[in-house]
Amino acid sequence: MVIRAVFFDVGYTLFDETRLWREWAEWLRVDERRLFTTLGEVIAQGRDHREVFELLRPGFDLEAEQTTRIRAGRPHRLRASDIYADARPCLANVKARGRLVGVAGNFPSDVIQQAMLDADLPVDVVGAPDRWGASKPSIAFFQRLIDAAGVPPEQIAYVGDRLDTDVIPARDSGIYGILIRRGPWGEVHAPKAQAMDLPVIASLAKLPYVLRGLRPVRGSTAEMTEADAAEILRLLKSHWIEVWIDGGWGVDALLGHQSRPHDDLDLVLRQSEIGRIAEVLGAAGFRRVEEAARPFNFVMVDRRGREVDLHGVVFDAAGNGLYGPQPASGSGRIYPAAAITGTGTIDGESVRCMTAEYQVANHAGYDPGDADFHDVNALHERFGIELPRQFARR
Ligand SMILES: [Mg+2]
Repeated sequence: MVIRAVFFDVGYTLFDETRLWREWAEWLRVDERRLFTTLGEVIAQGRDHREVFELLRPGFDLEAEQTTRIRAGRPHRLRASDIYADARPCLANVKARGRLVGVAGNFPSDVIQQAMLDADLPVDVVGAPDRWGASKPSIAFFQRLIDAAGVPPEQIAYVGDRLDTDVIPARDSGIYGILIRRGPWGEVHAPKAQAMDLPVIASLAKLPYVLRGLRPVRGSTAEMTEADAAEILRLLKSHWIEVWIDGGWGVDALLGHQSRPHDDLDLVLRQSEIGRIAEVLGAAGFRRVEEAARPFNFVMVDRRGREVDLHGVVFDAAGNGLYGPQPASGSGRIYPAAAITGTGTIDGESVRCMTAEYQVANHAGYDPGDADFHDVNALHERFGIELPRQFARR
């Protein structure tokens, strides 16, 4: 599969529309929960989302109200702040690999264009109904998209959060459709039978794997659940491969239960065993992601999109795990001996992991995201470890 152009849907794919819907609730003076419940019902019944307005306010004229909102200085517009955190790195990655980046949705082109500029996204082509004279889900829209891409449809991928308006018409046009499971449509559409043989991703961070031909399939939320982690750890244990759990699952092992969703399972192991672990996981259906792979660090993914991130270390005399190239100056990355002494529990089984002290210290070196806040605060509460300043609860 050679993909030369990747097009992205707008709402709930690159931009979180939640704020826009909240503003409609405010504008209509209806309870926010009522609006989201109604939206959910309309989606579940496969009806047009614009019916939400009619249900909440019979006789509602969307176009007229939009004009009124503009006059009132409260236009229905995407903002750079609505962009999902994974959108920019994903687009930059697609572009860095020499692929054309397109954004094509049913929003007006000036709205998309402005949001792209505000968010400083690397986009080559913007497609919209007012530009292309066609809107999704019509085949004409996707025909215009193919023309704009300048490559055959089988070399184009389209990422969207809906089956009916994004992925299925894209696929019917010969384009490689990828469903992203987020927002009110994604959550309803991903488990559907029509998504059975489609690649489904839980975040744009997973897109590179799909483009490399590793297709997570249905049934996967592309998450690493407690049962998944336990299954993999049991498999490794049965082959006498010793591992220490790092990352998010390392935190939850310390806590003794799953406290948040996880994308992957981070494992530290002896470098001398990294070939064997790759064999064992390979026999269990995991494939090595070759791109960006280094001998001491690579990711393996299975068809369900489950990811294991392997970190090989060489122990020195003091028991420190030396990770990656170690310059003579001694400033290479290491897992300190004291960090590799943690113990925890996953699915009732005792496991080895990084210590809570190491986890907290290791989180302090960069700008924390929500998951980092969650993890560090949980460790602070459970183990009384002092909170680094940037982690004081917001
Ligand atoms: Mg969408």
